[in-house]
Amino acid sequence: MNELILVKFGEMALKGLNKRTFESILMKRIKYRLNKLGKFTYTSAQSTIYIDPQEDGIDLDEAISRLQKIFGIASICRACVCEKDFADITAKAKVYLEETLEDARTFKVDAKRADKTFCMKTPEICAELGGILLAQHPHLKVDVRNPEITVMVEIRDTNAYVHARKLKGAGGLPVGCSGKAMLLLSGGIDSPVAGYMMAKRGISVSAIHFVSPPYTSDRALLKVEQLCQKITDYCGDINFYCVPFTEIQEELKRRCPEEYFTIIMRRLMMEIAQRICEKEECLALITGESVGQVASQTLHAMVCTDAACRIPVFRPLIGMDKTEIIEIARKIDTFDISILPYEDCCTVFTPKHPKIRPQLSEIEEAQNAAGFEELIEQAVSETVLKRFRLEV
Ligand code: ATP
Ligand code: MG
Repeated sequence: MNELILVKFGEMALKGLNKRTFESILMKRIKYRLNKLGKFTYTSAQSTIYIDPQEDGIDLDEAISRLQKIFGIASICRACVCEKDFADITAKAKVYLEETLEDARTFKVDAKRADKTFCMKTPEICAELGGILLAQHPHLKVDVRNPEITVMVEIRDTNAYVHARKLKGAGGLPVGCSGKAMLLLSGGIDSPVAGYMMAKRGISVSAIHFVSPPYTSDRALLKVEQLCQKITDYCGDINFYCVPFTEIQEELKRRCPEEYFTIIMRRLMMEIAQRICEKEECLALITGESVGQVASQTLHAMVCTDAACRIPVFRPLIGMDKTEIIEIARKIDTFDISILPYEDCCTVFTPKHPKIRPQLSEIEEAQNAAGFEELIEQAVSETVLKRFRLEV
């Protein structure tokens, strides 16, 4: 029996003039990910992409699990291909759905006719096929409101399709349709989740990480690189910038009051990140901050940090609880890497009593008095770029 995969757009279907651009980006992403699994043909019509295997033995389950990580897809179905002929539809549906219906208690049949010339109307298709399936599985009950299984018959241009299980896609918009932003990626739980969330809105992500050897170890960097590789699953290819931050932090410790240490450090991180953004053509910064999580994430502290920024700072986790963030971290499989116990440059230099309500003027005064321009330029020039590719 011939099977294919139907991929339906979500929000993208509503995007008017941009729809074509979005569709072509999505198609590119899909082809790239399925390429190594075998030969497929791809056709796009009526907000659906038809992915039709052209060889025997292609692992469609694997294809589906890959598709589930592509933003821009609302739902995915594995469907049986039928002639546009009711006898063929019923014959194939009986075989194709046998196991699924055997294990269910309630069902209904739904139909959609994109081809209005088809000889039966929707209610007729539903009633006739419903009766036939009920006769085949006498234990089943019809439940039109809340069925366990909805059997779907779609009459399209060249064929009819029957399927019974619609899987949820990753949602959002295809990565690459909303410009590029720079993720401040630490080894913690939050920032990989923040990157995932902005990629979901179609943003291409680059990443920047600050290291302070010998205070931070090679293993700590390796952990962040592992996280970066992991989020390529959803974000696609990522340019990863590693900034040597030791000298700046040591100078900071020497020249600035300890209570301002964290905020000034974060302002310097933002400054360096923005300079790399210019090279990388990133239009915004992304962080994993959430209000009140730690001393540097009070509103007052964020106001002081943002004052050092000339471009927007996106904080997609801003209103989330840690438990909600962890739930996503588990879903995208970053959690187990994030909880490996290696030190971050922030934690190494954390003051005992950070200012919870810093005044911007005092911070700026302390930072200007210390003067960091040369060290910033040096750090930017010594920044190392490493490219992480989505492995397929
Ligand atoms: P995370 O779990 O993401 O590490 P956190 O709760 O530990 O966050 P902080 O250490 O205050 O919070 O960091 C806040 C944000 O600053 C992080 O989410 C990240 O975006 C950025 N950040 C912190 N440390 C680094 C670093 N070494 N390199 C790059 N970005 C960093
Ligand atoms: Mg951290």
